[in-house]
Amino acid sequence: MTSNTDTIFALSSGAGRAGVAVFRLSGSRAIVIAETLAGKAIPTRQVVFAKLRDPDDRREIDSGLVFTFEGPASFSGEDMAELQVHGSLAVIDDLSDVLIAQGARPAEPGEFTRRAFSNGKLDLAQAEALADLIDAETIQQKQQALGQLGGRLSGLAEQWRAQLLAALAPLEAAIDFPDEEDIPEQIEARSAPVIAALIETLEVFARGAEQGRRLRHGVSIVLLGPPNAGKSSLLNWLAGSEAAIVSDTPGTTRDLIEVRLDLGGVPVSLVDTAGLRELTDDEIEQEGMRRARDRAATADLRVGLFDGRDGDGSAMLSDTIGSDDFLVANKADLFDSLPKIGEQQMFSISLKTGAGTDLLLEALTRRVRELTGQADEPRLTRLRHVHAVNGAIDALSRAVTQTGEMPELAAEDVRMAIRQLDQITGRIDVEEVLGEIFSSFCIGK
Ligand code: GDP
Ligand code: ZN
Repeated sequence: MTSNTDTIFALSSGAGRAGVAVFRLSGSRAIVIAETLAGKAIPTRQVVFAKLRDPDDRREIDSGLVFTFEGPASFSGEDMAELQVHGSLAVIDDLSDVLIAQGARPAEPGEFTRRAFSNGKLDLAQAEALADLIDAETIQQKQQALGQLGGRLSGLAEQWRAQLLAALAPLEAAIDFPDEEDIPEQIEARSAPVIAALIETLEVFARGAEQGRRLRHGVSIVLLGPPNAGKSSLLNWLAGSEAAIVSDTPGTTRDLIEVRLDLGGVPVSLVDTAGLRELTDDEIEQEGMRRARDRAATADLRVGLFDGRDGDGSAMLSDTIGSDDFLVANKADLFDSLPKIGEQQMFSISLKTGAGTDLLLEALTRRVRELTGQADEPRLTRLRHVHAVNGAIDALSRAVTQTGEMPELAAEDVRMAIRQLDQITGRIDVEEVLGEIFSSFCIGK
């Protein structure tokens, strides 16, 4: 049994018609309610097949599997039950009504996980990873989320914390026993190298955070090029290949066409700026150009496409396309040799015959994997983590200059850095971010 909490329930499987619907209950009456419906005792962590009945009139709701998990050995840490019934809308409605009549209430998004966090079953970085895992569209996203859920980032944060506690000890010795014989002279100086080393480590992780965040959100690629270069054809070819996840991302402006792709396990959003640039009216076209350039400037990667016979088209691209970007000459079926421009790696393809397209796809995939780095390594995946690490770096940069003269100030800054890093796992100071984190979950998790 767990302490007295209200009992929540949710349909944890996807909504809509399906073979099986999974309901979860959590809270002090979860097991009682499940056993009442099943009409028998359900031993903890066992599966029992039962006819589920409305206790008020003995009417059969459905038959299915019932599991119980006595807290604290459950996902949420509370008493939990799971009901697997047939996945029809009618069964789902009926069972929901009976659960409410029995005193359970529908869960808020993320409420099961929030309870798990409150009960110490997982920390905040792991809760975030669980949301990422549920949202994952591609393999690499999934791998990153699984690693973090397994405690990869949390372990790192705990390791940094331990190092800071070790750096704090000599400072505190110097403060508490300034004239003590047994304490080595200048003991406070011992903490400076530890702090300096940790600053370097944290800086590496802060720099690498962009990769983890990109993998969560997707790498953004913008297609640029003069009208008729073949941008729409390239987009359609990529979208029509195995790579496409979905077309038409909602929320994008009407004149930017965006598709989601899976390139080597990495989610990519590919934007075609063509709709803008092909408009004839001068003013609109200028506005379109401006927006296309803005979009290109903030993208992770730019792909400039031009008709290989069009020297001006390629020259125009050379100021927007950087050395890490892609420059692609299309319509290779219509030309023999390319005009030489710039230093960029140049691809030559024909979207008509397919020549060169595999090489381009391979290179794009490789580049996208570079931009997202190693999903299996521990890293920062959210802005929240980056802020915490940057806050710690600031505090430690102050501390490292003060260890000798002013150990009191240095110690205070080290403690401040610990508090900053503690936000990653949610040890402290996170009340205000909890709502935001858990509300981004889907219902039933
Ligand atoms: P966009 O204006 O850059 O989006 O270009 P589109 O994709 O609309 O293509 C413009 C025209 O070029 C269309 O008629 C395409 O069929 C044609 N096109 C695209 N790629 C090739 C190619 O590799 N070879 C040839 N011959 N024509 C192409
Ligand atoms: Zn087009």
